[in-house]
Amino acid sequence: MHPSIAIIGSGPAGFYAVEALAKARPDAHLDVFDRLPTPYGLVRSGVAPDHQGTKNVWRVFQRTAHRPSVRFLGNVEMGRDVSLAELRSLYDAVVLAIGAPADRALGIPGEHLRGVVGSGEITGWYNGHPDHAGKAPPLDGAQVAIIGNGNVAVDIARVLGRTPQEMVKTDLPAYASEHIARAPLTDVYMIGRRGPGEASFTPVELRELGEMARTVALVDPAQLPDALVAGDPKEQMLKDKLLGILRGYAQNDPTSKPVRLHILFYAAPLEVLGDGEKVTGLRLARTKVENGRATTTGETFELPVSTVVTAVGYHVRPIEGVAMPTGATAYPNDGGQIADGLWAVGWAKRGPSGVIATNRQDSIDVVERLLKTLPETSRGDARARLDALLAGRGVQVVPFSGWETIEREENTRAVDGAPRVKLTDWRALLDTAAARGTGAEG
Ligand code: NAP
Repeated sequence: MHPSIAIIGSGPAGFYAVEALAKARPDAHLDVFDRLPTPYGLVRSGVAPDHQGTKNVWRVFQRTAHRPSVRFLGNVEMGRDVSLAELRSLYDAVVLAIGAPADRALGIPGEHLRGVVGSGEITGWYNGHPDHAGKAPPLDGAQVAIIGNGNVAVDIARVLGRTPQEMVKTDLPAYASEHIARAPLTDVYMIGRRGPGEASFTPVELRELGEMARTVALVDPAQLPDALVAGDPKEQMLKDKLLGILRGYAQNDPTSKPVRLHILFYAAPLEVLGDGEKVTGLRLARTKVENGRATTTGETFELPVSTVVTAVGYHVRPIEGVAMPTGATAYPNDGGQIADGLWAVGWAKRGPSGVIATNRQDSIDVVERLLKTLPETSRGDARARLDALLAGRGVQVVPFSGWETIEREENTRAVDGAPRVKLTDWRALLDTAAARGTGAEG
């Protein structure tokens, strides 16, 4: 009997795990579930639209999806259509590749005000995620704060800072391009609570902030040290590059372009200010870094922003039957193992860290361990029982062929060198998927 393994989530970590499983156990039935009718997780709905080179990794995952032992079950949500307990009783192993989708909160007063937007929400919105497509962030004022000094903060600063012309060859949805172009932006602040030496953005991404047509990147030279010291030569090279780029921004003319991107360090958010309903500003504490930690100096200042985007990391959502310590960003696991027959890969395992490629080796390592624990005899034909269960519940499963129908439709709509025009509405996605190919084959 074929072993059957369920992989929940079809982003990079999930697909890298599937590829490793398919190679090691060509006899295994591998079922890849996604709550969306579309595959590829954050490659489709997280990576910035102007990073099509990064997004192109979908081609690798497409090859995996076409392996004969692999099947994709889109529009099937664990917890809604099938429970984790049911999946664990059907399959010989279940791999959670469901990422860390919840925006981390700042935990400061005023965070509930209209105009505070999490990075997951805004990146989902500008990537046409059907849950976020209708939720345009309020961009009605001239000033916006982005909290965080990671690559997600940089992505958001760039997407807000670019012109529609710069985004033509991307898959930024028209609604997002128009909303950003209409915003009366003059000043965007990207705010780190620590210094340039502690920022987690990387040189390639930081450099792109200096290449925007309507937005000039600026840094206060007083915030830049003479040198950034790192522990090893590779890290030192990166730090030297970062400092060089920041020094360049410190010399930019703030009047040279209509929008200014202020890269602020040593500033920790204290309170989002508002009129009871909507954001009117942000109060921050000036900090200094001691032993790697930000400590406040006692001095505070305010920025008159009307939108605050938090790009301060993510955490997993609690799921039935998995214990979660308070503040955990990932599911507690030992080398990927959460419990007997239950595994995690990617951000669900490690928390929100690393680039797409990080997931490859990580998933390979987890799969190696998983295979050692796979029972000698399989529980039986999980596929037939799962299909009966989903059919009984009236679930419209979108197979890979259904996704490929969506993909063809999106490609057909593309103009002016754009790779695709995304379908961003649940009904349109499901109707298009159903236009050809139903059932869970493929
Ligand atoms: P990140 O790199 O961990 O950055 C999070 C930022 O939020 C840090 O600057 C952190 O500051 C700050 N922060 C956390 N809590 C805060 C608080 N309470 N107040 C103020 N600031 C706070 O995470 P990310 O930017 O979300 O990215 C997630 C992962 O995806 C990273 O591994 C990233 O490299 C990757 N990614 C890569 C790309 C790319 O390669 N182009 C693009 C996007 C994302 P502290 O350091 O002081 O904690």
